Amino acid sequence: MNRKQNIIKTAINERAIDQNTTAIGVMDLDGLKKTVSDAYDAFPANFFHTFAVKANALVKVLEPLREYGMGAEVASPGELLIALTAGFTEQNIIFDSPAKTLRDLRTCITNDIALNIDNLQELERIDALMQEFPNSKSVIGFRVNPQIGAGKIGSTSTATATSKFGYALVDNDNRNDLIEIYKARPWLTSIHTHTGSQGCELTLMAHGINIITELAEEINAVIGNQQITRLDIGGGLPVNFSSEVIKPSFKDYADLLKAEVPLLFTGKYQVKTEFGRAIVAKNGVIITRVEYTKNSGGRHIATTHAGAQILTRTAFLPKSWPIRVTGFTSEGVEKNAQTSEIVTTDVAGPCCFAGDLICSNQQLPKLESNDYVMVHDTGGYYFTNHFDYNSLPRVAIYTVSGADDVLSMKCIREPESLEDVLNKM
Ligand SMILES: *Cc1c(COP(=O)(O)O)cnc(C)c1O
Repeated sequence: MNRKQNIIKTAINERAIDQNTTAIGVMDLDGLKKTVSDAYDAFPANFFHTFAVKANALVKVLEPLREYGMGAEVASPGELLIALTAGFTEQNIIFDSPAKTLRDLRTCITNDIALNIDNLQELERIDALMQEFPNSKSVIGFRVNPQIGAGKIGSTSTATATSKFGYALVDNDNRNDLIEIYKARPWLTSIHTHTGSQGCELTLMAHGINIITELAEEINAVIGNQQITRLDIGGGLPVNFSSEVIKPSFKDYADLLKAEVPLLFTGKYQVKTEFGRAIVAKNGVIITRVEYTKNSGGRHIATTHAGAQILTRTAFLPKSWPIRVTGFTSEGVEKNAQTSEIVTTDVAGPCCFAGDLICSNQQLPKLESNDYVMVHDTGGYYFTNHFDYNSLPRVAIYTVSGADDVLSMKCIREPESLEDVLNKM
């Protein structure tokens, strides 16, 4: 049995799933540990990897990530609170958000939390705060948009000419203005870009990183000493959703960066990353139960409990976020062409709109009522990012760890039943 078959068997044995289950999310902590160690193995010691908390903001997932050696990149006061609760120290947290309030900024500056400035109005606020708190140890940088274009998915492309993120480097005289901004502020010691997420080619990301590295060199040269000591190169390593293969790997990305931006690997700068999806996606699955099946217009339809509420991107943008499923019997035996007829299938979710599908028009072993469907690669931005509270009950979330023959499961978030919610009203 492979790991995922074991996970489903264990979930059945431990009654994490049964005939009453709607959907659960499961994070594999051993897989997570291996992924983080792959990241550290791929890059030299001057790299520090932070985890983009928005990808999976669960304390019980962040705690192990901290133990495995990661910092935390947060983008809202809520994520900051979650990261602090998970035990990250202020020095290992970085606050990125395009909409930091004055209060958020004050919290960062007075608690020595690193932050990246998004725009000139935010800079004015920081100027005032640095006058008020000149001894702050916050590492402060500018988020730069190198304006080098989009990847395949518009909504995750962050370096277009008109992106909402960061300081537009190539507009007007902005590049020279930014050099002057750094020159006048010795506390600006970092520079940041996050050129894109899923759908962006590695070469596009490397190009953006090359631009800020050259800019840092130029700023330091103009100033006459190495004022900028940290390069924050963002996250965005894409994930292969079409099979179990990890491609590109951290090693693939490191090899490309080594060729394109060798300076990162010399130790001259501390280099910070902010990977999200590549850390968690392949270490999480959703297991949902088939409630009903039917045939409509020649299509086999299996209605489950995982839809737009926990597979939001896939339901709304199915072409950009296709996702893989595997069927299992109610005893946890994987279905295949030997055991089941192959039929053209739509696997549907529970929400009341027609686009609420996990996948459509797939050749799958015929799913029956009370079968389970495993939805792969959903450890980031899926079951942890619940979209619509109307679709009760919320999914329960488990962690799983241990060798395959002695897997242990732990519930880290109880499902919320309709009764629970009615009792609260
Ligand atoms: C979302 C985000 C990340 C993480 O992106 P992934 O594609 O999940 O790696 C990193 N940095 C910033 C600033 C982000 O907004």
